[in-house]
Amino acid sequence: MSEATPAKSMDEIMALCKRRGFVYQASEIYGGINGFWDYGPLGAQLKKNLRDAWWQDMIMNPCWGRKGPNGERVRCVPLETRIIQHPKVWEASGHVGGFNDPMVDCRETKARYRFDHVSVFVPASGDAGERPLFAFMKDSPSEAKQQKKAERAFGAVKVVPLTSIPVEQFAKVLGPDAEKVGTLTEPRQFNLMFKTYIGATATEDDKAYLRPETAQGIFVQFKNVVDTTRVKVPFGIGNTGTSFRNEVTPRNFTFRSREFEQAELEFFCHPSESQDWYKFWRDFRMEWWQSIGLKGENLILREHEKDELSHYSQGTSDVEYRFPFTAPGFGELEGIAHRGCFDLTQHQEHSKVKLEYFDQERGEKLPNGSTKGERYMPHCIEPAAGLDRGALAIMCEAYTKDPSRPSPEIMKFHPRIAPIKAAVFPLVNKDGMPEVAERLYDELNAKFGRTGFIETDAKQSIGKRYARMDEAGCPFCFTIDGETLTNQTVTVRDRDTGGQERIAINAVSEYVKKKLGV
Ligand code: ATP
Repeated sequence: MSEATPAKSMDEIMALCKRRGFVYQASEIYGGINGFWDYGPLGAQLKKNLRDAWWQDMIMNPCWGRKGPNGERVRCVPLETRIIQHPKVWEASGHVGGFNDPMVDCRETKARYRFDHVSVFVPASGDAGERPLFAFMKDSPSEAKQQKKAERAFGAVKVVPLTSIPVEQFAKVLGPDAEKVGTLTEPRQFNLMFKTYIGATATEDDKAYLRPETAQGIFVQFKNVVDTTRVKVPFGIGNTGTSFRNEVTPRNFTFRSREFEQAELEFFCHPSESQDWYKFWRDFRMEWWQSIGLKGENLILREHEKDELSHYSQGTSDVEYRFPFTAPGFGELEGIAHRGCFDLTQHQEHSKVKLEYFDQERGEKLPNGSTKGERYMPHCIEPAAGLDRGALAIMCEAYTKDPSRPSPEIMKFHPRIAPIKAAVFPLVNKDGMPEVAERLYDELNAKFGRTGFIETDAKQSIGKRYARMDEAGCPFCFTIDGETLTNQTVTVRDRDTGGQERIAINAVSEYVKKKLGV
């Protein structure tokens, strides 16, 4: 079994994230702002490493140089599109009309819940009669509290979703945090897009939205990319950046935030090849998350059931991680969707601009050996990842407690993602050791500084310095000691085992290069 995430405490992980400068509450000195998080120095670098890994493996060298199902190298290009788009983009995409999650409000506590997230304890068999039904939110304090009350009322209980209870019976439901029965409103639509105004007058005509996803920017620029570059279908366009959703109940640390970063790819292909590409991307994305350290049974690929699919989708899978707050269940890190030609068709209709693709290599063979060409609307496979959820999963997976170690809390990051790549310590701050450490530091920083921090520190006991590096997740510490001065060797300490070995000081760069895979 891999490190058992369910046993990890989210409070301890969050405390370490704050203490070591991974994640801070946004605007903390003003009391914070619900649903917004900032990244401290280590978190900012960790997220950059994650974004860079995505960029490298999805765009610069897609799928590690593998061939796609068409037998050719996978080709992708980047794009950077704006947070604010023409408001019509969101009408075409369906977000203005449909990006709504039905919500229920509690008239007593003023709390607002996502309708499909509320569960209810009901009698295991038979009718509740005059007794109330006990609503709760999974993984919140209301769950245990309501369960106790329900068991007192009914004996054996079972859980059903609130969505399965007819609205006429809401009068009998005791809200998750309420004292009185019947305070939940009927479900209402709530648009998740943030609104803003462009320009000084702020009239209704100037209304615009902050994007709820980065993907639409890709569809809107599809024609420009095809017309101005040499890409040919099949190919992908990747886009990363900040998205905003006015989530009604932001919770679980950064998992459900109101501002977050996405890394999305739209892969355009011929309709007849789309199922093969869908399977290809789905499987690669699972492998990719595994390659950066999310191994074992905490990571799953879940294929959606037919009745979960959007009307246009011919297949969707989620890469899901078992977070401490979802355990024993899982939370989505990335969705891989076969979107058919839905988005391009929508934008073609709404913009009145032809977005079909002319494929010179398809169609009837002509007597001169060339092909007649075929005009079609490409189908799209969309791997849509969340970088904040990715970073959170990586931090949860890395967090390890080992009371037998002098530093009981260790962040076992994959070296590629670790924000600190290596540390160089003089054993003592004298006898020529600091000078040797400085030189080694300069060498490593020049070679690997672009991939993350190289640390050096001469103060405090070596044990304390190692412990600090363990908490920060630095994979290797190189220590200059008395022997270094006589035989030009240093110790390498491995974060995960605490074990040490000696290597030649002039072999350190090569050692780091190999371990980082750069
Ligand atoms: P959920 O069902 O959890 O709200 P979703 O299915 O709406 O997520 P998508 O629209 O598929 O999410 O977005 C793609 C990715 O963006 C998600 O897999 C997730 O990693 C990330 N994401 C979406 N909403 C949020 C959020 N509120 N906070 C952080 N990341 C998010």
